[in-house]
Amino acid sequence: MTATAAAAAVHVHGVELLLRRLLCNAVPLLLLLLLWLFLKMVTFPPPVESKLKTLPLDFAVRVRAWLFLCKLLGYSVIITSARRTAAEQLALHKQDKRNPAPSATNTHLLGIAVDVNFLKAGTIVLRKATEKSLWLNSGVVRAAQLCGISWGGNFSNYYDPVHFQLAS
Ligand SMILES: [Zn+2]
Repeated sequence: MTATAAAAAVHVHGVELLLRRLLCNAVPLLLLLLLWLFLKMVTFPPPVESKLKTLPLDFAVRVRAWLFLCKLLGYSVIITSARRTAAEQLALHKQDKRNPAPSATNTHLLGIAVDVNFLKAGTIVLRKATEKSLWLNSGVVRAAQLCGISWGGNFSNYYDPVHFQLAS
């Protein structure tokens, strides 16, 4: 081996070492970055988090997964109601008789239902008064179904598009 070839080999070796070192340092950093991004995606603003805390864990996990999918679709959420006390349910029933009276099977009393509005770019785009086709076209209903959550927009007796509950 000539002196020049030897020098070139050392140089290549040096570059390879540098690349390997960079990669070793970058992989853990990249993994941390991905973990941070993921946690950021499945964590919601404090008003949403405080409502999620009132739900039983199995339903809360489904709602979190669903809201994550909604976030990917570009929606942020306002949870207007989650678990309710019997008194709160009674007040709603008195306000509008289509709201069921408190009972042992009421999904809001059991904590297996949420009422939501969805926002896009800070504006509420899906609410109670929004027509069925817009809800369906948004993708949030399909996303809920994928997470084992059924939609109140399909209730036969009362169109309640803001209501989502644990699928039976
Ligand atoms: Zn509801």
